[in-house]
Amino acid sequence: MTFKFDKGISVDTNYYRVSDIKYLTAEAFIITLPKSRFSFKAGQHISLSIKGDYQSREYSIYSGENEETFQILVKEVEGGYFSPKLKNLKEGDLVEVHGPFGRFGLDEKAKDSHKHVFIASGTGISPFHSIIKSNPGLNYEVIHGVRYQIEGYEHKSYDPEKYTLCTSRDSKGNFNGRLTEYLKLADFEKNTIFYLCGNSNMIFDAMEILKGKGFGRESIKVEVYF
Ligand SMILES: Cc1cc2nc3c(=O)[nH]c(=O)nc-3n(C[C@H](O)[C@H](O)[C@H](O)COP(=O)(O)OP(=O)(O)OC[C@H]3O[C@@H](n4cnc5c(N)ncnc54)[C@H](O)[C@@H]3O)c2cc1C
Repeated sequence: MTFKFDKGISVDTNYYRVSDIKYLTAEAFIITLPKSRFSFKAGQHISLSIKGDYQSREYSIYSGENEETFQILVKEVEGGYFSPKLKNLKEGDLVEVHGPFGRFGLDEKAKDSHKHVFIASGTGISPFHSIIKSNPGLNYEVIHGVRYQIEGYEHKSYDPEKYTLCTSRDSKGNFNGRLTEYLKLADFEKNTIFYLCGNSNMIFDAMEILKGKGFGRESIKVEVYF
């Protein structure tokens, strides 16, 4: 199936025009596209490419399941191939979206019976933003590890009582130190499902800490970015 855009260009349905780019920091930005032409479950990711470029990368979906626009949150990786190109996109540019992919998401069986603790490093917060927006009333807690307080991307989207920002390089967060240090000190109720997303070092360390607190693999879900 093809779509005809206003400028008369016919393109495949996988193509979307960028409707907005919002910079949250010098490196991180939200790309907004029109409402997706596919349905997805919060927590899933897409594969994204830029028209005319042969490479693609995966990005978690940042927006909620039923929103009028479709968003991803990206951090530019210095020296990276793709993310600097995304940062240079302009409103109206064409991107190609494939997906949705993945099984990372809310444990539906435990949705009402358990607390859901979302543990993220950096842009690993993205799927949790989508899950929380898509599930009003969810019993959740977010633990977000970043270097500087400014990287607590759109932290006002979360209930301040349920959100802890751990900052390792300044003391402006809720906890001064790595999120793994926070996890060592934290107490969690027995009926908790943990969701870990971000870089593999954080995920492996966090899993060990949770294991030490008596939580088995069946109560931990993982999405590794790199
Ligand atoms: C399932 C999945 C979902 C993802 N979702 C997101 C997302 O929502 N937002 C997002 O910004 N990225 C996300 N990523 C990472 C993304 O796919 C790219 O790897 C990232 O944008 C870097 O691409 P690049 O071409 O610029 O760097 P490349 O040229 O591919 O790689 C350069 C180096 O950067 C490292 N790297 C990759 N990501 C990061 C990072 N965030 N910080 C520091 N170093 C990194 C790589 O390991 C590599 O060594 C996701 C990855 C996966 C597998």
